[in-house]
Amino acid sequence: MVRMVPVLVVALPCGALALTAACSDPSPPPRPRPGSQPAAEEAQRFIEQAESELHELSTQNNRAAWVASTYITVDTQVLAAAASAKLLGAQTDYAERAARYRDLDLPYDVRRRLDLLRTSLTLYAPADPAKTQELATIASRLEATYGAGKYCPSAGQCLDLQELSRIIAKSRDPEELKRAWVGWRTVSAPMRGDFTRLTALANEGARELGFKDTGDAWRAKYEMPLEALPREVDRLFGQVKPLYDALHCYVRGRLAARYGEDVVPGARPIRADLLGDMWAQDWSNIHDLVAPEGVAPIYDLDAALRAKGFTPIEMVKTGERFFVSLGFEPLPATFWERSLFVKPADRDVVCHASAWNIDDEEDLRIKMCIDITADDFQTIHHELGHTFYQRAYNHLPWLYRDSPNPAFHEALGDTIGLSVTPAYLQRIGLVDELPPPSSDVSLLLRDALAKVAFLPFAVLVDRWRWGVFSGDIPPAEYNKAWWDLRRRYQGVTPPVPRSEADFDPGAKYHVAASVPYIRYFFAHILQFQLHRALCEEAGHKGPLHRCTIYGSEQAGERLRRMMEMGRSRPWPEALEAVTGSRRMDAAAMLAYFAPLRGWLDRQNRGRKCGW
Ligand SMILES: [Zn+2]
Repeated sequence: MVRMVPVLVVALPCGALALTAACSDPSPPPRPRPGSQPAAEEAQRFIEQAESELHELSTQNNRAAWVASTYITVDTQVLAAAASAKLLGAQTDYAERAARYRDLDLPYDVRRRLDLLRTSLTLYAPADPAKTQELATIASRLEATYGAGKYCPSAGQCLDLQELSRIIAKSRDPEELKRAWVGWRTVSAPMRGDFTRLTALANEGARELGFKDTGDAWRAKYEMPLEALPREVDRLFGQVKPLYDALHCYVRGRLAARYGEDVVPGARPIRADLLGDMWAQDWSNIHDLVAPEGVAPIYDLDAALRAKGFTPIEMVKTGERFFVSLGFEPLPATFWERSLFVKPADRDVVCHASAWNIDDEEDLRIKMCIDITADDFQTIHHELGHTFYQRAYNHLPWLYRDSPNPAFHEALGDTIGLSVTPAYLQRIGLVDELPPPSSDVSLLLRDALAKVAFLPFAVLVDRWRWGVFSGDIPPAEYNKAWWDLRRRYQGVTPPVPRSEADFDPGAKYHVAASVPYIRYFFAHILQFQLHRALCEEAGHKGPLHRCTIYGSEQAGERLRRMMEMGRSRPWPEALEAVTGSRRMDAAAMLAYFAPLRGWLDRQNRGRKCGW
């Protein structure tokens, strides 16, 4: 993941922060007044002042957050919360003031930065201070409920999400899986009241800033005409659905062979607790149950890394060389001095891998607890994708120092990850021999269990929330609507009957914490589209899944053109810079998985697919 700048979680209102932080503007933010037309020069001055102050606050916030993540103590948490509250207060304030300039005719770069300021938040607080306070309280309570969630099947025996997830990943006992799955959802049932109220309050705040509802505000980040975005999602999902259906059919067949038709009936949705993941969104953990029989084993990168005596630093250096081979400058000395590469022995740190640009200039870092594994080797390439992206746009005005929409940053990291192929590993001396073509299906199936299985889930989370925010899904139908979508898109079913006494959407972090989700769907489509265009530029011949752009300065040049644009232009122009097309297209993803698709179709012969 990338640590996005600015950090947006919840728009804490300034008034709510009075005890912990200074507000950027002690007077109540001016509301849009009809008929009052501030001059264009005033807008220009306003945006420059906003950038200067937010840049400063963001840097302070990043420093506090970095220490809080790499040195977890009571004090660092308090300091980080204060810095974050200060930044969010200022962002809310500026977003509201930016709305004043909405109807003015302004130069492109002023207009665009004002709009970015206005759409920069995730939850908008209503102007009424009591309501903003209430929204902030509810939002943090929901996230805390999730974070502290435990299932206690008996007195003194409690399991947290990590422990329950381990059961879902490793257990092959349907009863034990069911208990863990149901257990985690006892945590989310009590969230329903808070979530319902949060929806009402956030909608009120969004409407005050001129959005139809919160879903409308979230979609505005994609700069598409109203309602075009859901149509775009449908179109792209329609492209990949046959591939997903083939994977679903194959996996269901293998699970039925393992668990029996009683547990996994044919032509029905799959029980959601059998797929190795708490949300059935990533099926990698059941690879052993579904791996092709009688196919050559996948090469062992874990063993190769250990055999060659790689250290964590050498793994990162290898990743850096990938980017240097594309024509990028080596990373600054401070990157090596200030990053966290290994888990310290003497203190707690947040190990989840992330890429940071502390000052949005050259203070680039990654934070990881690197193990000498193939997974971490991949992740390093992904994180460095963020790092080089962050550096490529650091010359732009501060509000432009980001990807053109939230999907591009993740897509770029994953695009680089797709180039970590056996051919690349051979060229850098990590594997001696290329695995035979007969093992391609194994490799592709492993990728598909993560990336193809994820697609319908990535669509339905925000399909559900857009419906909730617009009122199409009323509170009395929250859970029913959730399961209707999960059945329709994913073809999964709960292991036990659910009712409106449950609140299963809240069992997913991004719902409890109000983090938009559709970016992950687009990122999964885009990474293949970018990969294919870069491979063409690199002169790759042959199947797409064997392409690496390692060593291609031409591909690097093409990529850099997009990266240097940051968020200064709408995303179709960024996409065009790499692919020549302004339209997202899943055809490259289908091409990448084409050999697997053929194989799946052969395996599925005689099976009744669908649900
Ligand atoms: Zn990432």
